[in-house]
Amino acid sequence: MDLDKAIRKVKDFPKPGILFYDVTSIFTDPIAFRFVINRMLEFYLKEKIDGVIAIESRGFLIGSCFALERKLPLVLARKKGKLPGKTIQESYSLEYGTAVLEIHCADLPADKRWLIIDDLIATGGTLEAVAKMVERQGSRVAGIFGIIGLPFLKYKEKIGKYNPHTLIDYDGE
Ligand code: AMP
Repeated sequence: MDLDKAIRKVKDFPKPGILFYDVTSIFTDPIAFRFVINRMLEFYLKEKIDGVIAIESRGFLIGSCFALERKLPLVLARKKGKLPGKTIQESYSLEYGTAVLEIHCADLPADKRWLIIDDLIATGGTLEAVAKMVERQGSRVAGIFGIIGLPFLKYKEKIGKYNPHTLIDYDGE
């Protein structure tokens, strides 16, 4: 399976100079989608994981498949203002300004091992924000998964200690 071929690349999106790796083209291809989920299941087969945290929104799609296959609880990390119950929040830096992710406190109990899932790891700031919430709740990060990694953005400096795993990496141009 050539995963690279299944990933749509869009130049200058969302702004000039950015090459956008669009994983929604994987979801339109059931063979590629199944390949991604199977590779995740294989990689984490022997890992003790108590639950999955999926990041809005493309992380939801792969996180939900993985959680269901592994029969694990699925917890959503959502953009600020979407969750109705009491939440824990963490802000993180974007290229311009900051953003906030939230998780329902009741969904994130202490003393568990969580796998955090997103579609792509760029600077690692988004995943680091979720890892911080896990730790503030008294839980542990079992691992971090992204389909795509952009190692030239040095995400390992932020989240290397959480064992990030990717299926395909791209270099900067
Ligand atoms: P970061 O916090 O810098 O690791 O950014 C990761 C988040 O931003 C993920 O949710 C990605 O979906 C999105 N993202 C950042 N850069 C790109 C890119 N070049 N192509 C597609 N998505 C990206």
